[in-house]
This record gives sequence, C-alpha cells and structure tokens, in this order.
Amino acid sequence: MSAPFGRLSDDDLATCVHCGLCLDACPTFRVTGLETESPRGRIYLMTQWKRGTMAFDEEQVRHIDLCLGCRTCEAVCPSGVPYGRIIEAGRADVERRSGALRVMSRPRSGSASIGSPSSSAA
Ligand code: SF4
Ligand code: SF4
Repeated sequence: MSAPFGRLSDDDLATCVHCGLCLDACPTFRVTGLETESPRGRIYLMTQWKRGTMAFDEEQVRHIDLCLGCRTCEAVCPSGVPYGRIIEAGRADVERRSGALRVMSRPRSGSASIGSPSSSAA
C-alpha cells in the first residue's frame, strides 16, 4: 500500500515561503477572512497531513473542498508555487484516504447500524 498523501510532492509543498502575498487574490479568503480558506492555509494543512501532524477529518477536508481551483493564487505567487498541481494531488490523496476511511467504518456483514434497513422494524 502506498504512503498516505503520497501524491503530494514535498518539493512542491516546500516552495511556499508563507509570505501571504496571495491572500488578497484568493476569493475564498476574501469572503471569509480565514487563513484556513487561503492558499497558504491550505498548503500548510496539506503539508501537515503529509507529515502526519494534523488530524484528517471532515472539518479539515472542508477547507480543501471549498477551494474553487481557480488558481488565481498561482498567478500572483512570487515564489512560483505550483498551487494547481498541489491541490490536484491533495484532492486525489483526500479522495483515496476518505475511501479507505469509509471502508474501515463500514458495518460488518450481518451487523445492524442505526438507520440501516436491517435495523428498522418490519
Ligand atoms: S503560495 Fe506563494 S504567495 Fe502564497 S504564501 Fe505561499 S509563497 Fe507566498
Ligand atoms: S485556487 Fe482560487 S480559491 Fe483556491 S486557494 Fe487559490 S485563489 Fe483561493
């Protein structure tokens, strides 16, 4: 089995120097004012996931989901951060990881769960 977040490139992630010059160009940051909804925040999140130092849960994944993928941040970044490539790799890794979590949390065959057809009264 390949490493978690193996599609994300350490080299690509390391190109961000956290200068923040992309923030005002990012529509989701401009609307929310939240670092977590900025290119810098998303790169930080994906870097921490790759290092295994940040929780992988729905709340965090939402920050990746909310990215519009417009790549405006890439156009204004003075360090040449390949944001488009990073977010594509990150989303592929999120998809793969989420799928693994779904499989792990699926009820075992024959066991009933709340709301499942087998647990409702006939
Ligand atoms: S993505 Fe580019 S502009 Fe944005 S914080 Fe990183 S280095 Fe700075
Ligand atoms: S791709 Fe667009 S929405 Fe996503 S972080 Fe960059 S500027 Fe913001």
